[in-house]
Amino acid sequence: MGVRAGIIVTGTEVLTGRVSDRNGPWLAEQLRQLGVDVGQIVVVGDRPDDLLAALAFLGHGNDLVITSGGLGPTADDLTAAIVAQAQGRPVRFDADLEQRIAAIVERLSARLGGTRSAEATASGTRKQAMVPEGATVLEPAGTAPGLVVAVAEGRIGPPVIVLPGPPWELQQMWPAAVAAPDVAALLAGVPELRQHTLRLWGLPESELAATLRRVEPDLTGLEITTCLAAGELEVVTRYAPDAQDALQRLTDAVRTDFPTQLFSDDGSTVDEQIAAALIARGWHLAVAESATGGALSARLSGRDGSGAYLSGGLAVTTDDALTSIAAVPWDTIAAAGPVSPAVAHAMADGARTRFGADVGIGVSGIDAGSGARPGTRTTSVHLCVITPDGQRARSFTTSAAPATLRQLVAPAALHLLRQLLSPLPAAGSSTGRT
Ligand code: ATP
Ligand code: MG
Repeated sequence: MGVRAGIIVTGTEVLTGRVSDRNGPWLAEQLRQLGVDVGQIVVVGDRPDDLLAALAFLGHGNDLVITSGGLGPTADDLTAAIVAQAQGRPVRFDADLEQRIAAIVERLSARLGGTRSAEATASGTRKQAMVPEGATVLEPAGTAPGLVVAVAEGRIGPPVIVLPGPPWELQQMWPAAVAAPDVAALLAGVPELRQHTLRLWGLPESELAATLRRVEPDLTGLEITTCLAAGELEVVTRYAPDAQDALQRLTDAVRTDFPTQLFSDDGSTVDEQIAAALIARGWHLAVAESATGGALSARLSGRDGSGAYLSGGLAVTTDDALTSIAAVPWDTIAAAGPVSPAVAHAMADGARTRFGADVGIGVSGIDAGSGARPGTRTTSVHLCVITPDGQRARSFTTSAAPATLRQLVAPAALHLLRQLLSPLPAAGSSTGRT
């Protein structure tokens, strides 16, 4: 049996959705890389009883429990005290630790300026220097120290790693947590667990499921999860190194059944593939979009180093803007209508002209957010990509709400460009409903 871990994410702000959880997924990935299997991520508010219940729940069936959050100086930060209680360990004041935290707080105050009550600061620091007996202290990355707390002697249960809530503090502290004696002992000898990702585009999940069912008897040792994300199908496989051959059989079967839909078998994303293909050709890309209000440009420009191949993007909604900014001829709008394949083509061309770019993408459609068509959510989207080597178009209708529309259209446009840039055999223009 491998090592299993459970994660408790604390914080009423996370429970209520005001802050989305970044710590649970990050910790789960770190643990996976260490070969540890994560069975549960539990989110609890800042209530002592709920945290105690979560610790009791995850204490069964896990070899390790990790908490995030609730280590600050204020009264609502309770995690250290509650974990001490759950592990049956009294807390002791650590004077040396208090000095170290006080020094950090002083440096921080000097940098931030303003005035603080010396008394309140001292009481907060004193609170953070209360350490469960026998625990390993993880030096603060911010002001809060982390802890590794094993159960008291004579009791049964996993050690608990206690980490601060702010993601960068938690991430900074992680190596020290892994190196703490109670954790290192647990991790020693854990076999490596690898992860591999296949990505497919334009394939219903049911078809992939049929292939997986057929080859499954031949895939011992693989734990396969499929997931649909923004139109892409991801097949994520976790496996021990001795199941490498089975992984190869899985990859071969998927490639044989879906040669055009499988676009990544090395973990690369469509964004990375496009970036590499554009850079290899020395081409620059420009975008003009109406339906997506800049979402495609935002995605493209959100990558590090995108300046090497992205010239810019235009978000245009009205007919005036289409003509004056995106260089769409009036005649085209008059003949085909503002939402049409012809306008998408003219937008792709206009983006190239306006930016002096080699490659243009045009996205024509009603911006559902503009309320241009009250009472109906159905909208047509027309995409067109033009490169120096050719062009490719695609149209579809969707009843997605604005936010979802943006998530659907950006990948559709990127895959259209990928198909045009890649040497893969691919079908011509297609029309479908999403
Ligand atoms: P602090 O000293 O900042 O209070 P803390 O360890 O007590 O540290 P929390 O009070 O739980 O941590 O969280 C502080 C802030 O860190 C939160 O308001 C939130 O902005 C961020 N944060 C906490 N937990 C998470 C999480 N799971 N995902 C993303 N951000 C988080
Ligand atoms: Mg706090």
